[in-house]
Amino acid sequence: MYAGLDSDKLKEECGVMGVYSDDKQSTSQLIYFGLYALQHRGQESAGMAISDDGVIDYHKEMGLVPRVFNNKVLKELTGNVGIGHVRYSTTGESHVENAQPLVVKYKKGHIALAHNGNLVNAGALRDMLENEGVIFQTSIDSEVVANLLARYHKDNIEESVKQVMEVLKGSFAFVLMTDDKLIGARDPHGLRPLCIGKTENGYILASESCALSTIGAEFVRDVEPGEVILIDENGLKSIKSNKWCRKSLCMFELIYFARPDSTMDDINIYLARSEAGKILAKEAPVEADVVISVPDSGTPAAIGFAEESKIPYGVGLIKNKYTGRTFIQPNQELREQGVKIKLNVLKENVKDKRVVMVDDSIVRGTTSKRIVAMLKEAGAKEVHVRVSSPPVKYSCFFGIDTPYRKYLVGANYTVDEIRENIGADSLHYISLEGLKKSTKRESGFCLACLNGEYPMEVPMEGDNKKGD
Ligand code: SF4
Repeated sequence: MYAGLDSDKLKEECGVMGVYSDDKQSTSQLIYFGLYALQHRGQESAGMAISDDGVIDYHKEMGLVPRVFNNKVLKELTGNVGIGHVRYSTTGESHVENAQPLVVKYKKGHIALAHNGNLVNAGALRDMLENEGVIFQTSIDSEVVANLLARYHKDNIEESVKQVMEVLKGSFAFVLMTDDKLIGARDPHGLRPLCIGKTENGYILASESCALSTIGAEFVRDVEPGEVILIDENGLKSIKSNKWCRKSLCMFELIYFARPDSTMDDINIYLARSEAGKILAKEAPVEADVVISVPDSGTPAAIGFAEESKIPYGVGLIKNKYTGRTFIQPNQELREQGVKIKLNVLKENVKDKRVVMVDDSIVRGTTSKRIVAMLKEAGAKEVHVRVSSPPVKYSCFFGIDTPYRKYLVGANYTVDEIRENIGADSLHYISLEGLKKSTKRESGFCLACLNGEYPMEVPMEGDNKKGD
């Protein structure tokens, strides 16, 4: 496999966006710009569904947001309620039938649903529904949820959402809409993020606050774990869960997935990452001439490391921002000639220098090895790797695409063996305590892929883990 820049990262999940607005002309535009801001959470497909007086229309395609939507499409999608989705396929194959939002018709009307996360009991629920005669059109978890909602819907959608929440296990942040309501729900552990915003004309729900600031909405608050939010002509209503909810926000949102200009559960992502860099500099100091980052997600930690260590920060690696997920991969011959598609070294900043290279995580180790080699080829005297997350040792079952444990370098080798393998002069990871300290919180996180303590029962490592 070609080790592209992102192949050594845990993969993003999905982004969701919902709008309830008195101004029906602007709904699709707000969703479009919100999804644009959430593009980093999924690049395979995008879609939106809008309800206009009980008629739901939708548009979804494979590709990036600006490719999927154009002015004509947005003008045709008008209505007071709408939801949108950007997808990275963690479950279900990557084709347009599995793109979201999913729109279903049932006897009480329509439901459109956009989901971020992964249900650990989706298979069992699907089997149960199939045994009762339900036929599924897609292979995504969201269809199971839509079917359950339709099935439980008697008089009000509120009750059916609450009932569905009782039977789902795993991680989820939903935005869904009926013909006249926008609804948001977050799983009882709060694994995946969801926040509320306010505009002059209504309300917004979004995976990250960067989507709110992009469209000029005011941040109201995060949706609480287990909470359901209902928005309609009467305003916003919150239904809190009766169950015990223990917040377990995915730590990798803070380390890598979320945009640095987002604030999630009161933690500013940029500040947490740069603080992690400062702590890393205290935990694993080194004498060097320049601190560089592996762009882009390693940059805030590298800046923090430089500040704390008083070693100047410099740009050592240039990332080509215009390569999508599906760029044509170079053949073996070109690879051997050293074709560097996604990342190149800025020689002038590393030649004859002792370099500290800060990255946010190492998953398989393949990319780190390539980058260290590139830096040395460019004349770096020493390369000291510092990682602002502890070793990834366990698989994720909550919507993040991790490989089988046997491919997780942190699960199978000691730090010194990894150092040797990637060719670094030294290698240090931040401690788990240090990482928690960087968030200014003691608890409230899922750390399962780092320490193996899953916030709920999970299946044995199985079919959903990839070995590529
Ligand atoms: S296991 Fe890791 S990647 Fe998955 S939700 Fe927990 S912290 Fe996030």
